[in-house]
Amino acid sequence: MGRLVLKFGGTSVADIERIRNVARHVAREAAAGHEVAVVVSAMSGTTDQLVGWVNEAAASGGANTVSKDMKEYDAVVASGEQVTAGLLAIVLQSMGLKARSWAGWQVPMLTSDAHGAARILDADCSDMIAAMADGQVAVMAGFQGLSSNGRITTLGRGGSDTSAVALAAALEAKCDIYTDVDGVYTTDPRIEPKARKVGRISYEEMLELASQGAKVLQTRSVELAMVHKVPLQVRSSFESPESENQNREDGTGPGTLVCDEEDIVEQQVVSGIAYSRDEAKVSIRRVKDKPGVSAAVFGPLAEAGVSVDMIVQNVSADGDTANITFTVANKDIERAMEVIEGAKQDIGFLELEASKGVSKVSVIGIGMRSHAGVAAVMFKTLADKGINIQAITTSEIKISVLIDEDYTELAVRVLHEAYGMEAA
Ligand code: ADP
Ligand code: ASP
Ligand code: MG
Repeated sequence: MGRLVLKFGGTSVADIERIRNVARHVAREAAAGHEVAVVVSAMSGTTDQLVGWVNEAAASGGANTVSKDMKEYDAVVASGEQVTAGLLAIVLQSMGLKARSWAGWQVPMLTSDAHGAARILDADCSDMIAAMADGQVAVMAGFQGLSSNGRITTLGRGGSDTSAVALAAALEAKCDIYTDVDGVYTTDPRIEPKARKVGRISYEEMLELASQGAKVLQTRSVELAMVHKVPLQVRSSFESPESENQNREDGTGPGTLVCDEEDIVEQQVVSGIAYSRDEAKVSIRRVKDKPGVSAAVFGPLAEAGVSVDMIVQNVSADGDTANITFTVANKDIERAMEVIEGAKQDIGFLELEASKGVSKVSVIGIGMRSHAGVAAVMFKTLADKGINIQAITTSEIKISVLIDEDYTELAVRVLHEAYGMEAA
């Protein structure tokens, strides 16, 4: 039946009872004849707590800006996953299955040394493959890896999804991501209860949805699945492990399949709406309107490792100067302001302002390639509700707008309705 990777997120392993429930999903797949590897997250809330402790420890020196040794950050925050991997192995053993836990370094999952946001470079799974062929369930701690200089790394928040897809690619396995929703929806069902579950979504659309803020899959996991052609399914861990719905053989699966565009029969123009509150805006007013100014702004930001997302430049009221507005992730706003202040001589501006109360709402769909008017509907719908658009970016299959954070939920809901995406 081949190999299968099952990944369970934080809420699915939140306590021992839920870990037992997870074990029943694993047992079902093993009984069906699969060689099973499982990837687990830390119990929900654990990673936040560990991050909190690290920040508290680093602040004990009394410094205003907390700088910390990211190697030790990783040593601490990676520990949550190790606990759940061991617990699940114990529960599986108690059910009579052969099982063992694998820490990232034991596989090993080799990563870059970018602590806190490391990238998986290679996974040497030969020992795991041998153990699985011998009937042992492999339970791997997600989120963690090993750098070339022998230190523990982590893959960024939500990184267990990426651990699972990387493992599936290395094992040439299918990958099922079990979470607290039963699939990918047209938008976050927590914000719009009328959101509809989609049966299939293309890798490309899922990639845009994830990178524009839909937390259901970590962006990098979708990228890896697309490159390595890993068949990916998002499904619920809360549905009864023994229900008949679990093993549908009609090719649809109980959850959402993330697959190639060609495998989708009914393509919608807009397939999803994502939002991100993790946005901050920098406005530089009255810069000289001459060649080289944008380079003087964005060059130093790039050198400082600050990624810029949206950019708008317009002529200011006096007609001789321009205003430049751009967005960065919330965590980078202080750094961005420092960099721009530091480059003031080269840029030559009058005013600099930062604001955090903004969010980004994006509509995504492959159908946009061939349908005109998607942007017009978006702008009109927002205008009718009096929602001001502060910046716009587009790609071939996406339109994003920056708006006041207070209107995030309203914008998502009215757009969801405007594109006729609600459940029938
Ligand atoms: P896990 O702990 O299993 O990794 P996450 O909290 O990371 O789970 O991701 C699942 C959550 O993603 C859901 O509870 C849901 O609120 C959110 N989400 C955001 N956008 C979507 C979407 N388009 N479809 C489904 N879930 C979404
Ligand atoms: N436990 C990690 C986090 O909360 C990784 C994950 O759950 O995917 O970010
Ligand atoms: Mg997650």
